[in-house]
Amino acid sequence: MAVFHLKYRPTKTTDLDLPEVSEKIKKLISEKSSFQALLLAGPKGSGKTSAARILAKAVNCLDLVKGEACGKCVNCREIEKGNSLDIIEIDAASNRGIDDVRALKENAYLVPVRLQKKVFIIDEVHMLTKEAFNALLKLIEEPPERTLFVLCTTDPQKIPETVLSRLLRINFRKGGAEDLERSLDKVIKGEKIEIEAGAKKIIIDNSDGSFRNLQKSFNEIVLEYGKKIKKSQVEEYFAKNKGEYEAEELEKDIAKGETQKIINRLEEMAAKGIDFGELRLKWLNFFHQKMLANLDDARLKEIVEKLVMAGGWEKISPIEQLPLEMVMIEITNNQIPISKQITNHKKQITKEEPVSAPPLRGSDVVKIEEIENRWGEILAAVKPFNHSVEAFLRAARPQKMNKEELVIEVFYKFHKDKLEEAKHRQIVEKGLDKVFGEGMSFRCVLAEKKQETRDKKLETRIEDKKEEKAIEDVAKEIFG
Ligand SMILES: [Zn+2]
Repeated sequence: MAVFHLKYRPTKTTDLDLPEVSEKIKKLISEKSSFQALLLAGPKGSGKTSAARILAKAVNCLDLVKGEACGKCVNCREIEKGNSLDIIEIDAASNRGIDDVRALKENAYLVPVRLQKKVFIIDEVHMLTKEAFNALLKLIEEPPERTLFVLCTTDPQKIPETVLSRLLRINFRKGGAEDLERSLDKVIKGEKIEIEAGAKKIIIDNSDGSFRNLQKSFNEIVLEYGKKIKKSQVEEYFAKNKGEYEAEELEKDIAKGETQKIINRLEEMAAKGIDFGELRLKWLNFFHQKMLANLDDARLKEIVEKLVMAGGWEKISPIEQLPLEMVMIEITNNQIPISKQITNHKKQITKEEPVSAPPLRGSDVVKIEEIENRWGEILAAVKPFNHSVEAFLRAARPQKMNKEELVIEVFYKFHKDKLEEAKHRQIVEKGLDKVFGEGMSFRCVLAEKKQETRDKKLETRIEDKKEEKAIEDVAKEIFG
């Protein structure tokens, strides 16, 4: 069964979930007004990206009827296939620097390859750096011919006024009960699903006004209970999946230093597919209020600070729960902050103290340098099978190796446990076989000092940079 929110994603202006947005776009297209830079602003899951793609089609369609792309001409078909070189989708969260915007600019001045207009869809545009915004501003002040810029954002207030004033803005909002019901009915009809009265309302009430949430949870309900759905099943589904981790409970766990418990809860939630961005905001809100009421409490300040930091990593982390896990490990261990770890480790490298333990006895010992040199190959061999396993390995380092066994030094017990789980062990060993030949196994040992947590090579690379930049790079290396 295809995934509902992809299968039923609107492909025509008329199908857009918010009627006023649909009207506005139709009007815009049919008036043939010349617009070159649009801003689609509104909450997550409200249909901005779908609208941007529909706009891309409409400005390129060869047979436009009343503001609606035909969906049949060669241009419409090329765009619908999703591989047109002239439709460029950029996630500003991971391409946020001045160089990214420069590259975009160069591209914008080249004529479209096949279509009438090149369309740049920039998602999460508020994430751009100040310099990148300045470069973008120049571009939209005098846009090259045959281009359209569609900027999407959940936080328009973070976009500089100078840029905002040059954009034609379309506002999106959370779906109301009627909009959401219409959206749900499309799937019910399309998939021939029978659903008991009252069940729909529960799904709608739990969507928080997001069309994406709505489709996602409905999809899971159908996968779990089939195509005849009872109200009681929907109730059961939400009861089971709600097991939320309340901020009050988290606060107690932090106070008790329950790192493992917190990590386990986060992993459980990840398995259920919860929205970690939302969870983080809830927690942040709670601790922020507490901090305001207790201004002298350094501990609360630290938690707030770390939760804000985790937010910056959300977009670049390949593993959704990882940013929260990392900051929770730091908070509960109350260990030296990452920036200090880098400085300490830098000192250690310059002093050239031995980082690894003495090699195994016997004649079959492989030089540590050789393993280190090939560590990247191991990561690359593992990554296609499991991104988390790759990330755990990336945060670890090889310690010693003989013909049969590699010893991997890890810095958190949680990483050791995960890597040694049977299914993960298989993946790692597959990677080792690929690089070192058949029959290799491994075991993990826990590193003694927390200060040694960062990868040596990475730090050598960043040695000369300013510390602030270094922290950012480490975060990217770990999460991106
Ligand atoms: Zn067309």
